[in-house]
Amino acid sequence: MERTLSIIKPDAVSRHITGKVNAMIEDAGLKIVAQKLIRLTQAQAEEFYEEHKEKAFFGGLVEYMTSAPIVVQVLEGENAVAEYRKIMGATNPAVAEEGTIRKTFALSITQNSVHGSDSPESARREISFFFSQIEIVS
Ligand code: ATP
Ligand code: MG
Repeated sequence: MERTLSIIKPDAVSRHITGKVNAMIEDAGLKIVAQKLIRLTQAQAEEFYEEHKEKAFFGGLVEYMTSAPIVVQVLEGENAVAEYRKIMGATNPAVAEEGTIRKTFALSITQNSVHGSDSPESARREISFFFSQIEIVS
């Protein structure tokens, strides 16, 4: 069993499709073991995405991620990190595979509806960034 950190991004929460995204997650066999609605501050978004701080899109990404509430969640399952990235689809929805969350819902490469940790190490950092032990169902 593995855990990964998922974020349902502002474009999806604002369009009231959190339930539809969650249905795709659950249909894929991943279990939602923690979930909450929050609004990131600029400092929090900058810290969460610090690996991208030298990239040209960093400012726009932080602005976007703080523009409206997000849903953060912990997903659990076999190979959860890789499994979730598979059902999310490619970063750019234009090239994402049919049937993926991003192909189905994303608006653009920035407004791409979901985030998923990119490795088990990232997952540990990202889960503890948002959740304490008592908030995760075991
Ligand atoms: P995420 O980390 O959100 O799961 P990812 O791992 O597919 O997505 P990263 O390379 O980690 O993509 O980029 C983080 C986020 O930054 C992307 O999800 C997207 O919202 C935004 N982003 C990435 N590349 C670009 C780009 N070229 N132009 C604009 N925004 C981008
Ligand atoms: Mg990433």
